[in-house]
Amino acid sequence: MATKTKIEWTDATWNPVRGCTKISPGCKHCYAEAFAERFRGVKGHPYEHGFDLRLVPGKIFEPFSWTSPSMVFVNSMSDLFHQDVPDEYIIEIVRVMMNANWHTYQVLTKRSERLMAMLNGSLRFATSTEHIWWGVSVEDTKYGKPRIDHLRQTPAQIKFLSVEPLLEDLEFVDLSDIDWVIVGGESGPGARPMKEEWVRNLLRCCRHYKVPFFFKQWGGVQKKKTGRQLEGQTYDEFPFTAREAIPDRVVRRQLASDLEAQFKANEALKFVWGAAGSSPLSRITAQRSRQVPSL
Ligand code: SF4
Repeated sequence: MATKTKIEWTDATWNPVRGCTKISPGCKHCYAEAFAERFRGVKGHPYEHGFDLRLVPGKIFEPFSWTSPSMVFVNSMSDLFHQDVPDEYIIEIVRVMMNANWHTYQVLTKRSERLMAMLNGSLRFATSTEHIWWGVSVEDTKYGKPRIDHLRQTPAQIKFLSVEPLLEDLEFVDLSDIDWVIVGGESGPGARPMKEEWVRNLLRCCRHYKVPFFFKQWGGVQKKKTGRQLEGQTYDEFPFTAREAIPDRVVRRQLASDLEAQFKANEALKFVWGAAGSSPLSRITAQRSRQVPSL
């Protein structure tokens, strides 16, 4: 089974990259950084290196090993389009998503210019499918709103916004060609407050453009106390997209090993596999065979 998560709008997380650096006000209280830094220096822990950016090729084939179709948040602990992640590595991750197409992938970034450039270039092959949802974070007007225009300038079939943490009133938001909006307030120590009026404005925009609205949380220091109801209602709307059936484990194993052979033939990624030590696929297969006998 995929790595379960408490994030309300997804089923599982997949992190073939770990770590990141801050880029805009929405990053101030980054939950991923706070989590990762707790384990800096803990020998053998996945976050032994804290929040330093690292490629994790041993994770790349994980989606083939999960035994049920899942909604997968890609790089919940990083940003796939960070400048230190090589183009070739991003392309291979996206190839995995294209091949393991029985899952639905949610790719969220604050590096929207690189997203725009790649979806119009080397990642165009992954834009006409409905099982990869491409999204940008929007925390305010200055940094967040331009990202929406970058996303709109891509040929992605499914485009979404994560308006979290919402830091100010965005007033009117043009949601043309946007398929989903998630809204949430910041949570944890030092959480910046979010006003109800700002959330209601976004709900109005969603209704105007007929875009599904997902209200994740009010946030605050103790988010359990503030909950996730808006005017007495829970908003758990998603875009409707068809799902492919999951193939049996023999087919999944074959797909994964064919991909691994292709990746290993890629000269530009030799340094990645070198760092992985043994074969990433065989390591996953061995790991999974202890937990899930299917792959
Ligand atoms: S872009 Fe995302 S993962 Fe990276 S520092 Fe900002 S909030 Fe954290």
